[in-house]
Order: sequence, then structure tokens, then C-alpha cells
Amino acid sequence: FPIEFEEALPILRKIEKAGFEAYFVGGSVRDTILGREIHDVDIATSAYPEEVKQIFNRTVDTGIQHGTVMVLDHGNGYEVTTFRTESTYQDYRRPDEVTFVRSLEEDLKRRDFTINALALSEDGTITDLFSGLDDMKNHLIRAVGIADERFNEDALRMMRAIRFSSQLDFDIESETEGAIYRHSHLLEKIAIERIHEEFVKMMKGTRPNLGLTKMIETQLSEHVPGFKGQQVILKHLSELNLQKMDEIKIWSLFAFGFKYNKPSTTKFMRNWKSSNQLTDEVVKTTFLLNQVQNNQVGNIELYAAGKIAVVAADHLSQIFDLAIQPGELTIEYDHLQIKTKRDLAISAKELIADEILTPGPQLGQVLNRLETLVINNELTNNYDELLMAAKSIKNEGSN
Ligand code: ATP
Ligand code: MG
Repeated sequence: FPIEFEEALPILRKIEKAGFEAYFVGGSVRDTILGREIHDVDIATSAYPEEVKQIFNRTVDTGIQHGTVMVLDHGNGYEVTTFRTESTYQDYRRPDEVTFVRSLEEDLKRRDFTINALALSEDGTITDLFSGLDDMKNHLIRAVGIADERFNEDALRMMRAIRFSSQLDFDIESETEGAIYRHSHLLEKIAIERIHEEFVKMMKGTRPNLGLTKMIETQLSEHVPGFKGQQVILKHLSELNLQKMDEIKIWSLFAFGFKYNKPSTTKFMRNWKSSNQLTDEVVKTTFLLNQVQNNQVGNIELYAAGKIAVVAADHLSQIFDLAIQPGELTIEYDHLQIKTKRDLAISAKELIADEILTPGPQLGQVLNRLETLVINNELTNNYDELLMAAKSIKNEGSN
């Protein structure tokens, strides 16, 4: 047992002592067998939520309507979820209602893929009802039961198949892959936030190229925002080096690949329900890439983009084989005399105190002018030089 399971064993034992079954399930079991790092340990039990709460002193109702109770133990939190079936699927989405059951088999049956449907008991026994261990050996993602039915129940599973394929470098078993192709249109029924999450995990996985290729081949790419009709470009993108991408780079890759301008990039990001902050960085990165491509990057553009977008654009310039050196934008950015207006060696307050200017619109204009001159290295960012420049800008203005 890895340490995470060792620490959680007393939880299983306590549930069993109270007369119920309890197992480790899901991703942590899969990742342990694969020798991968595990993050959260999930526990499944025959005890109903109320019964779980009676067994433990300290619990939190994290998702009690779905049967999940968080058990707190020695500073760790464990999600303990009652065995359940998801009987009422409507609209091809995860059901709102679940039915609690007492049998492990029923619980494993409703899970998405065979490698995710393993249960590990306190004595080390693995329950493997769907040959998940074989599929793991053969590096295959295979739906539990009849794939067509499972994607019909919950269309997000199709994106999850591709995500796991990229994360684990597994192939998708052919019947399962065929079912994705046949049901790809159902992805449009799924909340975009959930697709977003799986898509980003896919792109951050070990084989994003494989994931992207599979999205194109199964036609899933035709049913996510902004990707429709872009197969040729997507195919090209799927052949680039997509390792080590963060979210800003991932979205900028597509926005730049699709040749989006500022408004279309913003719209694209909105359609994926991205945060304003992420959208902002992606717009700046994409703009910078367009400038690099047109050989129009100057200090003003670098300053306006800011460090995060500059670093992202540097990386993507290499990926897209644009004609600049690795890290070139970052080096130029780091050489800027100021990174924000606050870095100016003179402030509005000081211009007023020195009686160069009085509060009002002209003050702002002078400061903007100083900012531009310093960014372009037409002035050195020191107090005396800026003071003198402010005087002459003011006089220009009044003549
Ligand atoms: P990760 O490492 O990303 O957390 P995971 O396998 O733990 O991977 P989760 O989304 O945390 O994935 O889900 C936990 C488990 O719940 C899965 O292993 C799977 O058994 C089951 N599961 C999750 N989502 C679905 C779904 N849409 N349909 C069926 N079973 C699901
Ligand atoms: Mg998990």
C-alpha cells in the first residue's frame, strides 16, 4: 500500500467494524497500480450517508445528496461515498438523482471505464469485474458495459476517454472509440465548464497530440466551441510539440492557430466560459504572436502584454517556428526600463508638488507621454530627466 492508503486504512477498518463494506475506488486505485502519483483517495461504502456520519466523529456534508460525506482524520479529508446507481439519465447528462444501493457490483457498473472500476479492499484484494487489470496491461480505455449506452447516458464520458488516453498514454479500445464517433454530437448537451475541465486535463496530459488527434478522428472536435470546420488547422496543431503547456498557452495555441483577432479571441474564450483573467492573458498572448509573425514587436507591445503573456508568446513562437530566438521576447521585456506606470521615477504627486502641473487632464496626458518615452528608451527613467521632460511637454502643449 502506498502511504496515502496506509493512512486511510483505519477509515476502512472502522466502517467494516460497524458492519458495512468499504473499499478504495476510482482514480487512486488505478494510479497506484500504474505506479503513478495519487492525489485524492476515494472510498466507497455500503453504509448510507447517515450511517457514515454516525460512525465518525468529524464529518462534513460535502455532497450528501450524491452520497458523499467527507471524513476528517488526522488532518486528512476522505470522500466516503455510498454505493450508488445512476438510474435516471435525462438529456445525456449526469443524473441529478442517485439511488443508494448496498452492492459494490452495482456501484462499479455505473463507473465510466474499466480501469476506473476497480475496488481495493482493506486486505489488499482487488475487485475487478470488468477486466480493468487486463485493459491496464494492454494500455486500453474501455467503457464499462455497452459503450453506446454509456455515452448515451452521459456524453461527458467521451471527453473523459480522450483525457485519460492523453494522461495515461493509453489507446481507446476500438468499440469504445467507435461509440464516441457515433455519439460525438451529444457532447453539445454537456455544460461547457465540464468539457473545459476535461479538455485542459487532456492538453496537459503526457500525450496531448494523441488526444487532439483522437478528438478530430472521433469528430468530438466538431462539437466544441470554435473548433467546428477547423479540422485542417487542428490536424496541423496536433503535429506540433505540445508538451508542457499551461492554460494560457493552450488557448493561445488555438486562437493563434485559428488566426483569430482580438474580438474573435475574446468571443472564443467566452464561449468556453473562461475566466476574465485567462481571457485577458490569451488575448494579449495571441496579439503578441500576431505581432511577432508580422515582425512588428516593439517595446510598446511588450509593455502592454506584460510578463505572463510575453513568456507564453516566447514559448509559442518556438512551437509555431516563428522567426525569433528562444526567449527573445522575455529578454527584451526584462530590459524595459519600466513594467508599469508606477515604475516611473516621477509621480503625479511630485509633478504637482514641484509646481510643474496642477491636477487635471493635462497631468494625465503628460504622464502618459513620459511613460511612452521611457518605454521606448527616448528618456532615462530618472527623476531629474523626467522633471525636465515634463516641463517641456507642458510648454509644447501651451504653445
Ligand atoms: P483524476 O485523477 O483526474 O481525479 P479520477 O478517475 O479520480 O481521475 P474523477 O473525476 O475524480 O476521476 O472521478 C472518480 C471516479 O468516479 C472515476 O474513477 C470513475 O470511477 C467515476 N466517474 C467519474 N466521472 C464519471 C462519469 N462521468 N461517469 C461514470 N463514472 C464516473
Ligand atoms: Mg479523482
